[in-house]
Amino acid sequence: MLIRQALRVRLLPNTQQAQLMERIAGCCRAIGNVALDQRRWFARPGRSVSYASQAAEISELKAEFRWFGEAPYHCLQQALVDLETAYKNFWAGRTGAPKPRRRGRDDSFRFPDPAQITLSGNLHVTDKRRTRSIKQAVLSLPKLGAVRCVLHRAIPAGSRLLSVTVSREAGRWAASVLTERDAPEPADRSSEPVVGIDLGVTQPAVLSTGEVYALPRASAGAAAHLARLQQRVANKVKGSKNRRKAVSRLAAFKVAQARKRRDAMEKATTHIAKNHGVAAMEDLRVRNMTASARGTVEEPGANVAAKAGLNRSILDVAPGALRVRLGQKLAATGGQLLLVPPALTSQRCNACGHTEAGNRPSRDVFACKVCGHTADADANAACNIRDRALGKWGGAAKGEVASSTALLLVQQAKPKRSFKKKQNEKQTTGGLPAQACPKRGGFLHAQGRKRAAATRSSGPQRPARSSVL
Ligand SMILES: [Zn+2]
Repeated sequence: MLIRQALRVRLLPNTQQAQLMERIAGCCRAIGNVALDQRRWFARPGRSVSYASQAAEISELKAEFRWFGEAPYHCLQQALVDLETAYKNFWAGRTGAPKPRRRGRDDSFRFPDPAQITLSGNLHVTDKRRTRSIKQAVLSLPKLGAVRCVLHRAIPAGSRLLSVTVSREAGRWAASVLTERDAPEPADRSSEPVVGIDLGVTQPAVLSTGEVYALPRASAGAAAHLARLQQRVANKVKGSKNRRKAVSRLAAFKVAQARKRRDAMEKATTHIAKNHGVAAMEDLRVRNMTASARGTVEEPGANVAAKAGLNRSILDVAPGALRVRLGQKLAATGGQLLLVPPALTSQRCNACGHTEAGNRPSRDVFACKVCGHTADADANAACNIRDRALGKWGGAAKGEVASSTALLLVQQAKPKRSFKKKQNEKQTTGGLPAQACPKRGGFLHAQGRKRAAATRSSGPQRPARSSVL
């Protein structure tokens, strides 16, 4: 089966390369934002602005604004492809409307053509320990030339390079190198014993076998440090150099915290996927669970601070990301991830089946009111999740296979992207102007609407697109 894997590589550009990277990111941001404006202002029934029409104008734009010439053509094109993907996700209801990219926040660009990229160095070291030789590598990219980089792990033998995405995170440049390789089909592990996993509030992840994975939570010290950094930003004059420095310090701290969380999550999911063939988790809606209790001005919510603390401790564990990564890792090794309905898993006694809210005398302890069974509350819930996946109680039919090798293969068999609209998918607005069409939503903001209306009434000609700059 085909395995796609992205490896994150730390880039060590020299001064000229770093400056050029910044300018390329700027060009891609500019073209993405102009393209977004075009779509917001000029799309209407009968005249859709598509990727194809926008990509056809790149050379024109480059001729008019010479500085676009500094960025490789493919990177500019990719910025438009990304916008098209963002719109597709928006129309399919998966995300909100695309927003303009911001300087310093969305600095990235992609090289999609593997023929133009080379990654050299000792890349296929089989040694499990990270040897020095693997850390030194050189990534050659169009216009940038040879960029020194640090590899943190071996690239599996037989991998083919697909694309390279360069991005900046808190001032550091990194590249995501996407590779693809053929691997033997993994042995089917879906008949192995099921393990239940409960993502608790007191303990991050507890398995029905009793194993506990201590994913790091933001400590009190870290929270205080974060508050201090945020305070420093707030105290600086807007637009000043000192404020910019404070902002970059805050960003660096946040990135470091996120890296720690991610590292622990990756290690835990790898360990679980290695030791268990089938895992069951609750099908939780994280966004609903962590909704703010603040309420409105008229009807203020109760226990706002307590709920905010609970939300923080749930989100510290990153339950959504954990579920996705565990699913991917199980699928790649022939295992399976099952999702079961979450109702009552924390109130049911795993020994006798008695279900009552009073079974939980405190948040951490489970004590059955009927049979007297006592256990750790999270471990009891993990056993209930396992039993539900096995069909021992409560509507096993409601459980679903979230990921498995079969699903992964179906996913990978789908074409990566295609811009051709299917005949039966053709969107019509039923005679309404585009901005009033409910399906497309009111993303054409008020100002753009006014300008579009003004252009339409003033005459048949529309302003040159590049004048939007
Ligand atoms: Zn009981």
